[in-house]
Amino acid sequence: MSYDSDNVFAKILRGEIPSNKLYEDEATLAFMDIMPRTDGHCLVIPKTPCRNALDATPEQLAAVIATAQKVAKAVMKGLGVDGVILEQYNEAPAGQEVFHLHFHVLPMREGVAMRPPGKMGDFAEIAGYADRIRAALA
Ligand code: AMP
Repeated sequence: MSYDSDNVFAKILRGEIPSNKLYEDEATLAFMDIMPRTDGHCLVIPKTPCRNALDATPEQLAAVIATAQKVAKAVMKGLGVDGVILEQYNEAPAGQEVFHLHFHVLPMREGVAMRPPGKMGDFAEIAGYADRIRAALA
C-alpha cells in the first residue's frame, strides 16, 4: 500500500484545510479531532509522509510517540481528567480511515464511555478544550 498525498491530514499539513493546532515541532503536529469520541480528543501526526505504523520509519514512530506523550500529559493536566488512551489503527479492517499515520489522544473520565465514531463535534466546544490543552502545554 502506498501513501496518497491527497489524504486529509496531508492537506492540513500543507495548510489547504484548517485545523485547531495544539503543538508542533520539526517532526510532528498535534491538533484537535473534529469528530471527538471523548471531550478533548486530539491527534498527533508526523510531518513527513507514511500511511501508518507499518510503513513508518523508527524515527517517525519515535517522534510521534514522544509528542503523543507530551500531549497526553497536557490533556491530563489541562482538562483535569482521570486517564488518557493513546490509540492507533493500521489499515481499513483495523478501523483506519485517514491514511497518514496518527495517534489518537483520548481523554477519559471515570464512568464516561467513548462516543461512536463519525459524529461532527461542536466547534466552539472543541476550541474551548483546545485552549485548555494549549495552556497546559505552555
Ligand atoms: P482513524 O479511524 O484512526 O483513521 O481516525 C481518523 C480520525 O480523523 C477520526 O477520529 C476523525 O474524526 C478525524 N478527522 C477526520 N477529518 C478530520 C479533520 N479535517 N480534522 C481533524 N480530524 C479529522
